[in-house]
Amino acid sequence: MSINVTRSSMPSFEAFCDEIRPLWESRWLTNQGLKHQALEEALKSFLDAPYLTLFVNGHQALEGILRVMDLEGEVITTPFTYASTTHAITRTGLTPVFSDIRPDNLTLDPALLEPLITEKTCAILPVHVYGNLCDVEAIEKIAERYHLKVIYDAAHVFGVRKDGKSAAAFGDASMLSFHATKVFHTIEGGAVIYHDPTLTERLDAEKCFGLNDFEYTGSNSKMNEFQAAMGLCNLRIILDEIAKRATVAERYISNLKDIDGITCWTPEDDITPNYAYFPVLIEAERFGRTRDEVSDLLAQENIYARKYFYPLTSAFPCYVGKIDPGHTPVAEKAAADVLCLPMYADLDIHDVDRICDLIIQTKRS
Ligand SMILES: *Cc1c(COP(=O)(O)O)cnc(C)c1O
Repeated sequence: MSINVTRSSMPSFEAFCDEIRPLWESRWLTNQGLKHQALEEALKSFLDAPYLTLFVNGHQALEGILRVMDLEGEVITTPFTYASTTHAITRTGLTPVFSDIRPDNLTLDPALLEPLITEKTCAILPVHVYGNLCDVEAIEKIAERYHLKVIYDAAHVFGVRKDGKSAAAFGDASMLSFHATKVFHTIEGGAVIYHDPTLTERLDAEKCFGLNDFEYTGSNSKMNEFQAAMGLCNLRIILDEIAKRATVAERYISNLKDIDGITCWTPEDDITPNYAYFPVLIEAERFGRTRDEVSDLLAQENIYARKYFYPLTSAFPCYVGKIDPGHTPVAEKAAADVLCLPMYADLDIHDVDRICDLIIQTKRS
Protein backbone atom coordinates (compact mmCIF):
# COMPACT_ATOMS: atom_id res chain seq x y z
CA MET A 1 0.00 0.00 0.00
CA SER A 2 1.28 3.43 -0.82
CA ILE A 3 1.79 6.19 1.72
CA ASN A 4 1.08 9.73 0.66
CA VAL A 5 2.46 12.89 2.18
CA THR A 6 -0.91 13.58 3.74
CA ARG A 7 -4.31 12.04 4.32
CA SER A 8 -7.40 14.03 5.24
CA SER A 9 -8.75 13.56 8.72
CA MET A 10 -12.40 12.55 8.79
CA PRO A 11 -15.08 12.74 11.44
CA SER A 12 -17.18 9.59 11.79
CA PHE A 13 -19.64 9.16 8.94
CA GLU A 14 -22.52 9.16 11.44
CA ALA A 15 -21.36 12.44 12.98
CA PHE A 16 -21.34 14.08 9.55
CA CYS A 17 -24.78 12.69 8.67
CA ASP A 18 -26.21 14.04 11.91
CA GLU A 19 -24.66 17.42 11.20
CA ILE A 20 -26.08 17.71 7.66
CA ARG A 21 -29.52 16.20 8.35
CA PRO A 22 -31.09 19.62 9.13
CA LEU A 23 -29.97 20.86 5.71
CA TRP A 24 -32.40 18.42 4.07
CA GLU A 25 -35.18 19.77 6.21
CA SER A 26 -34.39 23.49 5.82
CA ARG A 27 -33.12 23.38 2.21
CA TRP A 28 -30.86 26.23 3.20
CA LEU A 29 -27.67 25.09 1.52
CA THR A 30 -25.55 28.24 1.37
CA ASN A 31 -25.68 32.02 2.02
CA GLN A 32 -24.66 32.25 5.67
CA GLY A 33 -27.05 29.65 7.08
CA LEU A 34 -27.05 28.15 10.56
CA LYS A 35 -23.99 25.93 10.04
CA HIS A 36 -22.01 28.84 8.68
CA GLN A 37 -22.96 31.01 11.65
CA ALA A 38 -22.18 28.22 14.11
CA LEU A 39 -18.76 27.52 12.60
CA GLU A 40 -17.85 31.20 12.55
CA GLU A 41 -18.65 31.50 16.26
CA ALA A 42 -16.90 28.24 17.16
CA LEU A 43 -13.74 29.22 15.29
CA LYS A 44 -13.72 32.72 16.73
CA SER A 45 -13.65 31.20 20.15
CA PHE A 46 -11.20 28.36 19.36
CA LEU A 47 -8.74 30.74 17.71
CA ASP A 48 -9.25 33.78 20.00
CA ALA A 49 -10.04 35.78 16.90
CA PRO A 50 -11.19 39.37 17.40
CA TYR A 51 -13.09 39.18 14.08
CA LEU A 52 -13.35 36.28 11.68
CA THR A 53 -15.10 35.76 8.38
CA LEU A 54 -15.33 32.48 6.46
CA PHE A 55 -14.51 32.03 2.78
CA VAL A 56 -14.96 29.26 0.24
CA ASN A 57 -11.19 28.62 0.39
CA GLY A 58 -8.04 30.13 1.81
CA HIS A 59 -6.90 31.67 -1.45
CA GLN A 60 -10.11 33.68 -1.89
CA ALA A 61 -9.80 34.76 1.74
CA LEU A 62 -6.33 36.14 1.04
CA GLU A 63 -7.37 37.90 -2.16
CA GLY A 64 -10.40 39.23 -0.30
CA ILE A 65 -8.46 40.81 2.56
CA LEU A 66 -5.91 42.32 0.16
CA ARG A 67 -8.75 43.88 -1.86
CA VAL A 68 -10.73 45.33 1.00
CA MET A 69 -7.65 46.97 2.54
CA ASP A 70 -7.45 49.18 -0.56
CA LEU A 71 -3.76 48.46 -1.00
CA GLU A 72 -1.74 49.80 -3.89
CA GLY A 73 1.87 49.28 -4.93
CA GLU A 74 4.42 46.85 -3.54
CA VAL A 75 4.06 44.06 -1.01
CA ILE A 76 7.19 42.61 0.59
CA THR A 77 6.86 38.84 0.79
CA THR A 78 8.64 35.50 0.70
CA PRO A 79 9.15 33.33 -2.40
CA PHE A 80 9.37 30.25 -0.15
CA THR A 81 5.65 29.57 -0.07
CA TYR A 82 2.77 28.00 -1.91
CA ALA A 83 1.63 29.53 -5.22
CA SER A 84 -1.41 31.03 -3.51
CA THR A 85 0.51 33.69 -1.54
CA THR A 86 2.23 35.22 -4.56
CA HIS A 87 -0.73 34.76 -6.91
CA ALA A 88 -3.00 36.58 -4.43
CA ILE A 89 -0.66 39.57 -4.54
CA THR A 90 -0.41 39.75 -8.32
CA ARG A 91 -4.08 38.93 -8.94
CA THR A 92 -5.14 41.90 -6.81
CA GLY A 93 -3.00 44.28 -8.86
CA LEU A 94 -0.13 44.47 -6.38
CA THR A 95 3.57 43.81 -7.00
CA PRO A 96 5.46 41.26 -4.91
CA VAL A 97 8.92 42.27 -3.71
CA PHE A 98 10.73 39.09 -2.73
CA SER A 99 12.80 39.08 0.42
CA ASP A 100 14.90 36.26 1.84
CA ILE A 101 14.08 33.96 4.76
CA ARG A 102 15.80 32.98 8.00
CA PRO A 103 17.89 29.80 7.69
CA ASP A 104 16.72 28.60 11.13
CA ASN A 105 12.95 28.55 10.59
CA LEU A 106 12.44 29.48 6.92
CA THR A 107 10.18 32.48 7.59
CA LEU A 108 10.73 36.04 6.32
CA ASP A 109 13.95 37.50 7.78
CA PRO A 110 13.04 40.82 9.47
CA ALA A 111 16.68 42.00 9.30
CA LEU A 112 16.41 42.19 5.50
CA LEU A 113 13.12 44.07 5.23
CA GLU A 114 14.05 47.74 5.72
CA PRO A 115 16.30 48.14 2.64
CA LEU A 116 13.42 46.88 0.48
CA ILE A 117 10.91 49.45 1.73
CA THR A 118 10.21 52.23 -0.76
CA GLU A 119 7.51 54.88 -1.18
CA LYS A 120 5.52 52.30 -3.08
CA THR A 121 5.52 49.71 -0.28
CA CYS A 122 2.07 49.25 1.25
CA ALA A 123 2.26 45.97 3.13
CA ILE A 124 4.27 43.00 4.31
CA LEU A 125 2.91 39.52 3.62
CA PRO A 126 4.87 36.92 5.62
CA VAL A 127 4.10 33.20 5.81
CA HIS A 128 4.21 31.08 8.99
CA VAL A 129 5.84 28.20 7.09
CA TYR A 130 4.97 24.65 8.29
CA GLY A 131 3.71 26.10 11.56
CA ASN A 132 7.05 27.82 12.25
CA LEU A 133 6.01 31.22 13.49
CA CYS A 134 7.44 34.36 11.89
CA ASP A 135 9.33 36.81 14.08
CA VAL A 136 6.08 38.67 14.63
CA GLU A 137 7.46 41.28 17.06
CA ALA A 138 10.29 42.39 14.75
CA ILE A 139 8.08 42.43 11.67
CA GLU A 140 5.34 44.42 13.35
CA LYS A 141 7.84 46.95 14.77
CA ILE A 142 9.11 47.66 11.24
CA ALA A 143 5.56 47.83 9.88
CA GLU A 144 4.62 50.37 12.52
CA ARG A 145 7.65 52.55 11.82
CA TYR A 146 6.83 52.72 8.09
CA HIS A 147 3.02 52.61 8.40
CA LEU A 148 2.68 49.34 6.52
CA LYS A 149 -0.05 46.74 6.87
CA VAL A 150 0.93 43.23 7.94
CA ILE A 151 -1.14 40.39 6.52
CA TYR A 152 -0.01 36.89 7.46
CA ASP A 153 -0.47 33.81 5.35
CA ALA A 154 -1.40 31.68 8.36
CA ALA A 155 -2.54 28.68 6.30
CA HIS A 156 -0.20 26.40 8.28
CA VAL A 157 -0.80 27.57 11.85
CA PHE A 158 -4.32 26.50 12.75
CA GLY A 159 -4.31 25.98 16.52
CA VAL A 160 -0.69 27.09 17.00
CA ARG A 161 -0.04 29.36 19.98
CA LYS A 162 2.95 31.41 21.09
CA ASP A 163 3.08 32.01 24.85
CA GLY A 164 -0.59 31.09 24.82
CA LYS A 165 -1.45 33.70 22.18
CA SER A 166 -3.22 32.45 19.06
CA ALA A 167 -0.87 32.49 16.06
CA ALA A 168 -3.73 33.52 13.82
CA ALA A 169 -4.31 36.79 15.63
CA PHE A 170 -1.05 38.63 14.85
CA GLY A 171 -0.70 41.59 12.49
CA ASP A 172 -3.58 43.48 10.90
CA ALA A 173 -5.02 40.29 9.45
CA SER A 174 -4.29 36.61 8.87
CA MET A 175 -5.53 34.17 6.27
CA LEU A 176 -6.30 30.61 7.27
CA SER A 177 -6.84 27.69 4.91
CA PHE A 178 -9.19 24.82 5.69
CA HIS A 179 -8.28 22.78 2.62
CA ALA A 180 -8.67 18.99 2.87
CA THR A 181 -4.90 18.62 3.27
CA LYS A 182 -4.66 20.97 6.25
CA VAL A 183 -4.68 20.08 9.96
CA PHE A 184 -8.23 21.37 10.29
CA HIS A 185 -10.40 21.27 7.19
CA THR A 186 -13.83 22.03 5.79
CA ILE A 187 -13.09 20.04 2.57
CA GLU A 188 -12.25 23.37 0.92
CA GLY A 189 -12.44 26.50 3.00
CA GLY A 190 -10.71 29.40 4.59
CA ALA A 191 -11.08 32.47 6.75
CA VAL A 192 -9.73 35.91 7.43
CA ILE A 193 -9.02 36.96 10.99
CA TYR A 194 -8.72 40.71 11.44
CA HIS A 195 -8.67 43.46 14.04
CA ASP A 196 -10.46 46.38 12.40
CA PRO A 197 -14.27 46.04 12.67
CA THR A 198 -14.80 48.55 9.87
CA LEU A 199 -13.58 45.84 7.47
CA THR A 200 -16.52 43.54 8.23
CA GLU A 201 -18.95 45.13 5.80
CA ARG A 202 -16.36 45.21 3.02
CA LEU A 203 -15.40 41.57 3.56
CA ASP A 204 -19.05 40.49 3.53
CA ALA A 205 -19.55 42.43 0.31
CA GLU A 206 -16.38 40.96 -1.14
CA LYS A 207 -17.61 37.41 -0.83
CA CYS A 208 -21.14 38.09 -2.01
CA PHE A 209 -21.12 40.23 -5.19
CA GLY A 210 -21.02 43.51 -3.27
CA LEU A 211 -24.07 42.62 -1.14
CA ASN A 212 -27.33 44.50 -1.39
CA ASP A 213 -26.38 47.98 -2.47
CA PHE A 214 -23.54 47.07 -4.88
CA GLU A 215 -21.31 49.77 -3.52
CA TYR A 216 -18.42 47.38 -4.20
CA THR A 217 -17.59 45.02 -7.06
CA GLY A 218 -17.53 41.92 -4.90
CA SER A 219 -16.76 38.40 -5.99
CA ASN A 220 -18.57 35.21 -5.01
CA SER A 221 -16.53 33.35 -2.44
CA LYS A 222 -18.92 32.22 0.27
CA MET A 223 -18.49 29.03 2.25
CA ASN A 224 -21.51 26.72 1.87
CA GLU A 225 -23.41 24.86 4.60
CA PHE A 226 -21.88 21.44 3.83
CA GLN A 227 -18.38 22.83 4.18
CA ALA A 228 -19.35 24.48 7.47
CA ALA A 229 -20.92 21.21 8.69
CA MET A 230 -17.66 19.34 7.97
CA GLY A 231 -15.83 22.07 9.88
CA LEU A 232 -18.11 21.73 12.92
CA CYS A 233 -17.46 17.96 12.95
CA ASN A 234 -13.72 18.32 12.50
CA LEU A 235 -13.46 20.98 15.19
CA ARG A 236 -14.79 18.46 17.72
CA ILE A 237 -11.90 16.08 16.99
CA ILE A 238 -9.12 18.59 16.29
CA LEU A 239 -7.29 18.27 19.61
CA ASP A 240 -7.19 14.46 19.32
CA GLU A 241 -5.95 14.75 15.75
CA ILE A 242 -3.15 17.12 16.80
CA ALA A 243 -2.20 14.80 19.68
CA LYS A 244 -1.92 11.87 17.24
CA ARG A 245 0.21 13.99 14.92
CA ALA A 246 2.46 14.79 17.89
CA THR A 247 3.16 11.08 18.38
CA VAL A 248 4.14 10.76 14.71
CA ALA A 249 6.36 13.85 14.88
CA GLU A 250 8.10 12.68 18.05
CA ARG A 251 8.90 9.34 16.42
CA TYR A 252 10.35 11.03 13.33
CA ILE A 253 12.42 13.34 15.51
CA SER A 254 13.85 10.55 17.66
CA ASN A 255 14.72 8.51 14.54
CA LEU A 256 16.25 11.33 12.51
CA LYS A 257 17.65 13.93 14.89
CA ASP A 258 21.18 12.53 15.02
CA ILE A 259 21.55 11.77 11.32
CA ASP A 260 24.30 13.91 9.83
CA GLY A 261 23.01 15.97 6.90
CA ILE A 262 19.37 15.91 8.00
CA THR A 263 17.76 18.79 9.84
CA CYS A 264 14.35 18.54 11.44
CA TRP A 265 12.55 20.90 13.77
CA THR A 266 11.56 20.39 17.36
CA PRO A 267 8.92 22.79 18.65
CA GLU A 268 10.28 25.68 20.73
CA ASP A 269 9.33 25.95 24.41
CA ASP A 270 7.00 28.93 24.01
CA ILE A 271 5.10 27.34 21.08
CA THR A 272 2.01 25.12 21.17
CA PRO A 273 2.53 23.29 17.86
CA ASN A 274 0.01 21.72 15.46
CA TYR A 275 2.40 19.32 13.65
CA ALA A 276 0.89 20.31 10.32
CA TYR A 277 3.87 19.05 8.32
CA PHE A 278 7.08 17.15 8.88
CA PRO A 279 9.69 18.93 6.76
CA VAL A 280 13.33 17.88 6.79
CA LEU A 281 16.30 19.55 5.11
CA ILE A 282 18.62 17.12 3.34
CA GLU A 283 22.04 18.63 2.76
CA ALA A 284 23.69 16.69 -0.05
CA GLU A 285 27.28 17.56 0.95
CA ARG A 286 26.87 15.92 4.34
CA PHE A 287 24.21 13.29 3.64
CA GLY A 288 25.80 12.03 0.43
CA ARG A 289 22.46 12.11 -1.38
CA THR A 290 20.45 14.98 -2.77
CA ARG A 291 16.90 15.69 -1.67
CA ASP A 292 15.71 14.58 -5.12
CA GLU A 293 17.53 11.26 -4.80
CA VAL A 294 15.97 10.60 -1.40
CA SER A 295 12.53 11.54 -2.73
CA ASP A 296 12.93 9.20 -5.73
CA LEU A 297 14.17 6.32 -3.58
CA LEU A 298 11.17 6.68 -1.28
CA ALA A 299 8.84 6.79 -4.30
CA GLN A 300 10.26 3.45 -5.45
CA GLU A 301 8.88 2.05 -2.19
CA ASN A 302 5.51 3.75 -2.81
CA ILE A 303 6.19 6.43 -0.24
CA TYR A 304 5.35 9.83 -1.62
CA ALA A 305 7.07 12.67 0.18
CA ARG A 306 6.63 16.15 -1.24
CA LYS A 307 9.10 18.82 -2.37
CA TYR A 308 7.16 21.55 -0.66
CA PHE A 309 8.03 24.32 -1.43
CA TYR A 310 9.82 23.81 -4.71
CA PRO A 311 10.42 25.72 -6.87
CA LEU A 312 10.33 29.21 -5.32
CA THR A 313 7.30 31.16 -6.51
CA SER A 314 9.67 33.80 -7.91
CA ALA A 315 10.92 31.11 -10.35
CA PHE A 316 7.44 30.23 -11.68
CA PRO A 317 7.24 30.61 -15.48
CA CYS A 318 4.38 33.11 -15.07
CA TYR A 319 6.70 35.46 -13.15
CA VAL A 320 10.12 34.93 -14.75
CA GLY A 321 11.09 38.00 -16.76
CA LYS A 322 8.10 39.93 -15.38
CA ILE A 323 8.77 40.20 -11.67
CA ASP A 324 12.13 40.80 -10.06
CA PRO A 325 13.05 37.57 -8.19
CA GLY A 326 15.15 39.58 -5.74
CA HIS A 327 18.17 38.12 -3.98
CA THR A 328 17.08 35.11 -1.92
CA PRO A 329 19.95 32.60 -1.56
CA VAL A 330 18.62 31.13 1.70
CA ALA A 331 15.22 30.48 0.13
CA GLU A 332 16.89 28.92 -2.91
CA LYS A 333 18.85 26.52 -0.73
CA ALA A 334 15.75 25.64 1.30
CA ALA A 335 13.79 24.91 -1.88
CA ALA A 336 16.60 22.61 -3.04
CA ASP A 337 16.94 20.75 0.28
CA VAL A 338 13.46 20.51 1.78
CA LEU A 339 11.35 17.39 1.74
CA CYS A 340 8.02 17.05 3.57
CA LEU A 341 7.71 13.50 4.86
CA PRO A 342 4.33 11.81 5.21
CA MET A 343 2.47 13.34 8.16
CA TYR A 344 -1.10 12.69 9.20
CA ALA A 345 -2.91 11.71 12.37
CA ASP A 346 -3.34 8.00 11.69
CA LEU A 347 0.06 7.36 10.14
CA ASP A 348 1.25 4.13 11.75
CA ILE A 349 4.35 4.33 13.95
CA HIS A 350 5.76 1.26 12.17
CA ASP A 351 5.44 3.10 8.88
CA VAL A 352 7.26 6.08 10.38
CA ASP A 353 10.07 3.73 11.37
CA ARG A 354 10.12 2.16 7.91
CA ILE A 355 10.29 5.59 6.23
CA CYS A 356 13.14 6.64 8.51
CA ASP A 357 15.02 3.36 7.96
CA LEU A 358 14.74 3.78 4.20
CA ILE A 359 16.06 7.33 4.42
CA ILE A 360 18.94 6.31 6.68
CA GLN A 361 19.82 3.39 4.37
CA THR A 362 20.19 5.76 1.40
CA LYS A 363 22.83 7.77 3.25
CA ARG A 364 26.29 7.66 1.65
CA SER A 365 29.51 8.67 3.49
C1 LIG B 1 -3.00 25.78 1.47
C2 LIG B 1 -2.28 27.07 1.36
C3 LIG B 1 -2.87 28.21 0.79
C4 LIG B 1 -4.17 28.20 0.03
O1 LIG B 1 -5.24 27.75 0.70
P1 LIG B 1 -6.50 27.10 -0.09
O2 LIG B 1 -7.48 26.92 1.00
O3 LIG B 1 -6.04 25.81 -0.69
O4 LIG B 1 -6.96 28.06 -1.11
C5 LIG B 1 -2.17 29.41 0.84
N1 LIG B 1 -0.96 29.49 1.38
C6 LIG B 1 -0.33 28.42 1.89
C7 LIG B 1 1.02 28.60 2.49
C8 LIG B 1 -0.96 27.18 1.88
O5 LIG B 1 -0.32 26.11 2.37
